[in-house]
Amino acid sequence: MEFQNPFSKEGKWFKGALHTHTTNSDGALSPEEIIKIYRENGYDFLFFTDHNKITEYKSPYSDFLTIKGVEFNKENFHILGLDLEEIFDTKNLSVQEIIDKINECNGFSIICHPYWSALKSQHILSLSGFIGIEIYNNTCEKSRGKGYSTVHYDEILENGYKIYGFAVDDAHGHYDEYRENDICGSFLMVKAKSLEKDEICDSIKNGFFYSSTGVLIQNMRIENNKIKISFTPSINVDFIGYNATGRRISGKEKEIDYAEYEIKGTEKYIRIEITDRENKKAWTNPIFL
Ligand SMILES: [Zn+2]
Ligand SMILES: [Zn+2]
Repeated sequence: MEFQNPFSKEGKWFKGALHTHTTNSDGALSPEEIIKIYRENGYDFLFFTDHNKITEYKSPYSDFLTIKGVEFNKENFHILGLDLEEIFDTKNLSVQEIIDKINECNGFSIICHPYWSALKSQHILSLSGFIGIEIYNNTCEKSRGKGYSTVHYDEILENGYKIYGFAVDDAHGHYDEYRENDICGSFLMVKAKSLEKDEICDSIKNGFFYSSTGVLIQNMRIENNKIKISFTPSINVDFIGYNATGRRISGKEKEIDYAEYEIKGTEKYIRIEITDRENKKAWTNPIFL
């Protein structure tokens, strides 16, 4: 069994946003303004990921960290290059070469919004070297109803890839009379020793986090071949594995804050998705069997 359990790692929880645009590309808010909003909403860090551009802006607050990144656009692919110090020219590079170059520069990459991008899982399965995909993208949900890419994610996991699933805002600060703002709608809870760039990035790269649009996970452990998980009051807990394995534990009419699942051994992987009454969710990373 292979699982980096953030709940048994020493350290503190830090709330962060992975995918953020500013007026340096197509965002509505300046770096200064967007940091202020995230900090006021209880976040501890964010990555700047303007399109094909690095935003050089350091947080003025000692309790809020900013980390540099880029969103590269190539064909239908949008790729987050995170913890990147310098931009590079992608004109003559393939998608795989962009991912390789991000790794050479000591950054790490995530494939953005597969559903919104009309990517098929076989497109993603032709690539390697990325650490995960966005399984929830808030701006794609709020603007087009195309936020969830969990079917892509399961198809990729079923093919034996060991990658993580990320919930991101893709914050642009765009909204109107008929569209909700895309800021502060999702987050990552990262367990790390301290709020320093290398500690946060190491924890993300090693899977010591979970993703959320509002549900908080309080504890999770594996004991006597059972997964035991507790969380803020919710309606459904899905233990999701390969093909027909896994099961839903439902509170039906009443809310529950605990669920357990006995591992059968045929699941290949098990990831947990929790949904509350308002359709807010939390997603753990997969436990690989
Ligand atoms: Zn994008
Ligand atoms: Zn974006």
